Formats: sequence, structure tokens, C-alpha cells
Amino acid sequence: MARIHCLSPRLANQIAAGEVVERPASVVKEVLENAVDAGATRIDVDVEEGGVKLIRIRDNGQGMEPEDLPLALARHATSKISSLEDLERVGSLGFRGEALASIGSVSRLTLTSNHRDDSSEGSSALCEGRDMEVTVKPAPHPRGTTVEVRDLFFNTPARRKFLRTEKTEFNHLEEVVKRLALSRFDVGFSLRHNGRGIHSLRAADSTAERQRRVATVCGPAFMEQAVYVEHERGALRLWGWVGLPTFSRSQADLQYFFVNGRVIRDKLVAHAVKQAYRDVLYHGRHPAFVLYLELDPALVDVNVHPTKHEVRFRDGREVHNFIFSSLHKALADVRPGQPGVEVP
Ligand code: ADP
Ligand code: MG
Repeated sequence: MARIHCLSPRLANQIAAGEVVERPASVVKEVLENAVDAGATRIDVDVEEGGVKLIRIRDNGQGMEPEDLPLALARHATSKISSLEDLERVGSLGFRGEALASIGSVSRLTLTSNHRDDSSEGSSALCEGRDMEVTVKPAPHPRGTTVEVRDLFFNTPARRKFLRTEKTEFNHLEEVVKRLALSRFDVGFSLRHNGRGIHSLRAADSTAERQRRVATVCGPAFMEQAVYVEHERGALRLWGWVGLPTFSRSQADLQYFFVNGRVIRDKLVAHAVKQAYRDVLYHGRHPAFVLYLELDPALVDVNVHPTKHEVRFRDGREVHNFIFSSLHKALADVRPGQPGVEVP
């Protein structure tokens, strides 16, 4: 057997990247989350060729100091937690300190940032998989950060082969932007593809503006056939819009569920929603909804998987019960007078 040796940082990062960076959409998700965590109120996303050729994301968040740029690109380096207690009550979207290191190991990544309001002189760091060595030099940039990711998977051809058409990759990426736009009404977003404006969403402060954003993202037909729900029980709060049974879909393609601002896919949640719709939807039809569950971060574990799409509730039964009863009641309240609602 060969002698044991440590993997090079680059290879270690590329292996970790296998979990976090599947396609351009995963890069967009990680970089957008960083911008949100940095307190950005405005995020502009510019991509070319479905994000494979270029992903450029600019934010007006708190930015980074020059000496932090190499750390931002290093694995297991984060400004968001420093102890196990922090992890147990984490409020930021990121905390693993892996995303930028992973992305940098499979692309040409440039980080340009400035943390000062009173100067337009920032700094820039380039990481091109060269064993993760980073050079920092001065570069003009207003307060905030721009992350530029070029030629995704240029050095990992096996991964590159798994990419689908430009259109498919762009659709995935657009979905990620939509999810974040639904989770953060207080942030303005724009999305451009190959120089063409696709979305431009201003920060939405009032209820009317929020509704407009949901209508833009989910389509006006959804908003016209959705009811607003808001329910609180103890430490649990659920709010959002649920589609009436008249707006049922043949696919489960309009379902957004956020837990403390993080979009999740969870069997327990899916089951509770399905149960609530059971009596009002035909078999094989899927409800549409945009729902927000808020609870004490200590009652939910988000560190289940690197992409953080999965969560574990401390009291799953209570959460299930709460979601089911809130939605069941909301749907029962609208059922009688609704035209076209079939109750089997
Ligand atoms: P994590 O988000 O889990 O901390 P990342 O690899 O995504 O790990 O980012 C590493 C660090 O780089 C972050 O903890 C943060 O301090 C810094 N950083 C990344 N993106 C930005 C940004 N857009 N604005 C300010 N700081 C950022
Ligand atoms: Mg991150």
C-alpha cells in the first residue's frame, strides 16, 4: 500500500466542491447568500452562457478588508461563527466557510471588495486553482463586494460534462435568484443573462410591494388565486400565501417554504402541507404556496447537509401539527364561497 500523505489544498477543496458546487446555480446560491449575510440591500447578478462562462455578482454590503480576502478564499475560514454555541443559534445563511474555497478550486475566481464608505479604493484577489495561492492588489470598488466566477469546471472536465444546456442551467440559476428574492423582500435584485435584463426587483417595504414581488416571481395568476395566511402559536409563526385549490398544478413547481429565511425541502413540512390540502385537491394535483416559518433558531438544526437545503426540527411533531392546522383552517375558511372548488 502507498504511503499516506495529505491532499494538496486544491485537491481537498475540489473534493469538497463536489458537495457544494454542482452547477452554476449552486455558485449563484452561495455567492448571493454571502451578499445577504454581508447586509447588502442591493444585489446585481450578471451571467453569461447559463453562468458557465461568467457569473458576476455585485453587492453593496459591508465588504472586506484587503487582508481578509485570502481568508475568505481559504477553507474552513468564516467570520460568521466561532464556537459550537454560535453554531447552535446561527442566524446567518452561511457558516461553514467552504463555499468560496470550493468555487475557487473549480473556476477562475476574482474577489473585489471595499469595506469603507469614504473611499472607492478597494482590493482584489484572484484565485485560479493554483494550489489556492492568492495575490491581493489594489482595485477600485465602491463599498461592497463583487465576486466574479469564470469558466466553471475548466479544470474538472468530468464535472463539466454533467452540465446541461445553457437554457437549463440558466433556468436553475434563475430559480435560485427567485427563491432569494422571495426570502428577502428588503433587498433589491437584478438578473441579466447575456447582456439582457431578465429581472429587476426593487426592495419591497410595504405589504402591497411584497405582494407585487410575489406576483412578479410566481406569476400574477398565483396572486389572484391565493389567500394570505398568518398564524402564531407559542414560538412558532407561519405566514405567506397559499394557492386556492382552483390554482392547483400538475407539478410541484410552485412551492416555496422558508424556515427563518432559508429555503428548505423537508419531508415533514411537505407532508403537513399535503395533509392540509388533502380534502380540497384532486389526487395527483399539487398546491402552490409561498410560506414562511419563523422559530427560535435553537429549535432547528440547519447543519444537516452542506447545501443546507435540509433541516432538522427539534420538535418535528409540533411543527407538523402547527403547519397542518394553520393551513387547514385557512383553506377551510375560504372553501365555502370559492367557485370551482371541488370537494371530493
Ligand atoms: P461562509 O459564508 O460559510 O462563512 P464562504 O466561503 O461563503 O463561507 O465565505 C467566507 C467568508 O468570506 C465569509 O465568512 C465572509 O466573512 C466573507 N465574505 C464572503 N462573501 C462576502 C461578501 N459578499 N461580502 C462580505 N464578506 C464576504
Ligand atoms: Mg457563504
